[in-house]
Amino acid sequence: MNDASAAGEAVRDIEIPMLRAYRLWFEHARKCEGCKSVRRAQDGCEDGRELWGAYRLARNGGGR
Ligand SMILES: [Zn+2]
Repeated sequence: MNDASAAGEAVRDIEIPMLRAYRLWFEHARKCEGCKSVRRAQDGCEDGRELWGAYRLARNGGGR
C-alpha cells in the first residue's frame, strides 16, 4: 500500500480534475469573444469566470 505506484495514483487523482477543469476553461476561452481578449481569466464572461473558479477549486484540492 505504501509503494511508489500508490503515491502515483494519489497524485493522478488530484491532477485529473484540475487538468480537466483547466481544459474546460481553456476551450471556452478560446472560442468566447468575452474571454479570449481579456488578460486575466477573472475578467472574462460569467461562464468563463465560473469555469476558472472550478479550476481554482480543483487546484486547491477543494479546500477553502
Ligand atoms: Zn467566456
